Amino acid sequence: MSTVDPVTPVLTKRWLSPRSWSIQTYEQLEGYTALRKALTATPEQIVQMVKDSGLRGRGGAGFPSGLKWSFMPPNFDKPHYLVINADEGEPGTCKDIPLMMADPHSLIEGCVIASYAMRANYCFIYVRGEVLHCIRRLNQAVAEAKAAGYLGKDILGSGYDLEIVVHAGAGAYICGEETALLDSLEGRRGQPRLKPPFPAAAGLYAAPTTVNNVETIASVPYIINGGAEWFRKMGTEKSPGPKIYSISGHVERPGQYEAPLGTTLRQLLEMAGGMKDGIPLKFWTPGGSSTPMFTAEHLDVPLDFEGAVEAGSILGTTAVMVFNETVSVPWAVMKWTQFYKHESCGKCTPCREGTYWLVQILERMVAGNGTEEDIDTLLDICDNVLGRSFCALGDGAVSPITSGIQYFRDEFLALCEKNRAKNRKPALAGAN
Ligand code: NAD
Ligand code: SF4
Repeated sequence: MSTVDPVTPVLTKRWLSPRSWSIQTYEQLEGYTALRKALTATPEQIVQMVKDSGLRGRGGAGFPSGLKWSFMPPNFDKPHYLVINADEGEPGTCKDIPLMMADPHSLIEGCVIASYAMRANYCFIYVRGEVLHCIRRLNQAVAEAKAAGYLGKDILGSGYDLEIVVHAGAGAYICGEETALLDSLEGRRGQPRLKPPFPAAAGLYAAPTTVNNVETIASVPYIINGGAEWFRKMGTEKSPGPKIYSISGHVERPGQYEAPLGTTLRQLLEMAGGMKDGIPLKFWTPGGSSTPMFTAEHLDVPLDFEGAVEAGSILGTTAVMVFNETVSVPWAVMKWTQFYKHESCGKCTPCREGTYWLVQILERMVAGNGTEEDIDTLLDICDNVLGRSFCALGDGAVSPITSGIQYFRDEFLALCEKNRAKNRKPALAGAN
């Protein structure tokens, strides 16, 4: 019998319906009923409801969504914008793109409600440029919603106007960082901006802007229909609601699994059919490669914003990558670090130079040419990148290395020992 609490699907409830992405299916299954309700409330009431629900950002950082919305200034000397961060790029993360493919109207309905609450008349959905199929699907859904009167001028006779623009991203991981995304959207090379000012004060075109993740905004119609209390019944007190965990790697059935925040890896593994071929678990990430790795000791850590931190990591994007005993930790760490080096935007020295040297050392070690001192050098470089970089990419880049050495130092040492043995001079024949 399953030990996982029964989960009534919320965000994924339509995913298995025939033509789940069409407006007809969406409307048959309660679609756009939340919008009708929302338009009878005031924007302030909606912001309050989202605050009361405890919804926190699903892009990785978990910032309270209602609070973020309330930072939008009350004056209108400049237009207000809502920008959806659909530039899902964190290694292992695969929840927003499946959501937009299977149920694009839940995102669009959420966009209209959120834009109304923040009095924005333009909303941009910034999607990874590589996922053309997803961009096409969103454009189709926007056209359907507009034809049905859920978008455009005087939505459902309310007097409220909203245009949604689907924008193809620039193909760089850093454009998922909210201020780099805004630069990219404005037509410039995507590089992070100094914060503060946060986007609510000066965002897109220096106007008040809220940047929210896809899954965050797709949760909003359910909160409006179900109410804040209903939403709080799922998950934990400080991390309420349902969450889509994307599970990949050495499990029997990789995929997207919806479960309340606070679900453990033990429970998720059960949902995903267990470890592939029964080979034991060695290490895993709770929320993508930029979150410090966990081991088999962490099977019962509640995967919510607090639980992951208490156990020494962060929740991140709930991209659970599972590795069995056949995988070399230094090799996996090297692959991730190569990714961060490639994606470093080069704006700040610690990240630009640090990721370069980290890759040099890791490649040398994995090739069997490392020394014990390399481990200390790696940690020293990490120390000079962590907390000293301009944006979260630098901090994320060192997480696999520091946590890999913390839990699997022996494996890094074994690589160096192999090198020492290789270089040991053979004993002189006849010497005694
Ligand atoms: P952050 O904590 O700096 O900010 C989170 C959000 O809260 C932002 O929108 C920010 O503007 C807002 N915010 C924070 N403090 C504020 C304040 N004082 N006033 C007003 N607004 C404030 O985190 P971040 O750098 O935006 O994101 C880091 C996270 O991104 C990581 O945890 C990582 O897991 C995640 N990430 C996700 C992906 C992905 O593909 N989804 C990719 C890379 C990283
Ligand atoms: Fe660019 Fe890296 Fe610096 Fe971020 S930390 S600004 S990605 S160089």
